Amino acid sequence: MKALVIDAEWNPKPEYDLTDNERETQKVHNSAQVWQHPNLSVEETDQPEPDDDEVLIKVEYVGICGSDCSMIETDEEGYMHYSAYTQFPNITGHEFSGVVVETGDDANLFEEGEPVTSEVVDYCGRCQQCRRGHHGHCENFEQVGFTVPGAFAEYVTVPEKIVWSVASLEEAYEDEDELLRAAATIEPSTITFYGMFGRAEGIQPGDYHVYHGLGPIGLTGMNVSRASGAADVIGFELGEERREIAKDLGFEHVYDPREVDPVEAIYEATDGRGADVHLETAGAVQATYPVIENSLAEEANVVHISNAASKPEFGTRKYQGSSAQVYGSEGHTSNEVYPRVIRLMGAGKIDNLPIVTSTYPLSQADQAIERAAERVEGKVLVDV
Ligand SMILES: [Zn+2]
Ligand SMILES: [Zn+2]
Repeated sequence: MKALVIDAEWNPKPEYDLTDNERETQKVHNSAQVWQHPNLSVEETDQPEPDDDEVLIKVEYVGICGSDCSMIETDEEGYMHYSAYTQFPNITGHEFSGVVVETGDDANLFEEGEPVTSEVVDYCGRCQQCRRGHHGHCENFEQVGFTVPGAFAEYVTVPEKIVWSVASLEEAYEDEDELLRAAATIEPSTITFYGMFGRAEGIQPGDYHVYHGLGPIGLTGMNVSRASGAADVIGFELGEERREIAKDLGFEHVYDPREVDPVEAIYEATDGRGADVHLETAGAVQATYPVIENSLAEEANVVHISNAASKPEFGTRKYQGSSAQVYGSEGHTSNEVYPRVIRLMGAGKIDNLPIVTSTYPLSQADQAIERAAERVEGKVLVDV
């Protein structure tokens, strides 16, 4: 089958303390310290076969994630920017839709022909983190498209326990092609959903939400916030194309933070109340946190989503004075996040299709990642 393969050179930095397990398996927890000179190529590879607990999925659409981009971006010495868990060579891609074509001997949740999507983290279910319900931080996890083969390929195998049917999207999308395109945007939508409702506590209908950064996570997040009963959703973004997408989605209060005073804009849009919910989806923490701490509504929830390399100044007194809290949030696993997002999409309350700004064939998936890495578009999809 055809697949997009990323390979890189194993060259641990001398100061990086590899564990025995990392050395043996070449699965590393901080990729930026180990993998040099990444390169992408569309290749012919073997079609996978499902294990007993897995399903084989014929992939239809795959979204390009910021993490895919940061695997091909490098520092001056050629080490990749992506700093989490990987093994190479690997087929990347984890935001996908497809159709079940075969089920393993013990897999019985899905039928052949069923349209599906999948979570990313394959958790063990037995470690201490899993047993406390934090499956996303499983101590023995694998990640589809990071440590095991992902979806930039004609076929992918996934354990059925992390697969979800998207057949119910038929209610919202008449044609199968649109349904499958939309289903490839479920994964990015789950990131902010998990942050607001899996991690934070006490977000209420009627709250004012502010997104700092309108890449695909921020844009899909604005849709999630609106569907979840936000009184208004305000967005800040440097890129003009991304601001236009937000306006096309029907959001009125969308600003270039260089052209307005963001704190004033927030107070104006919220009738002087401030933001009940701030979502940091930019990674520009030195610019965003001063705005956040000066526009906190009483008991505000700040949800930190982005991966930021730098550290913000943090005005503890402001948080104290507003009885505000900051929640770190990573991923989307557990808490029934996927089925809830799928239900909102099926009910027509979230439509991410306007966020998809270009589509490339699998044969040009490498170019699609390079384009997405320019970070001007909404969501870039690969049509497998
Ligand atoms: Zn992603
Ligand atoms: Zn576990």
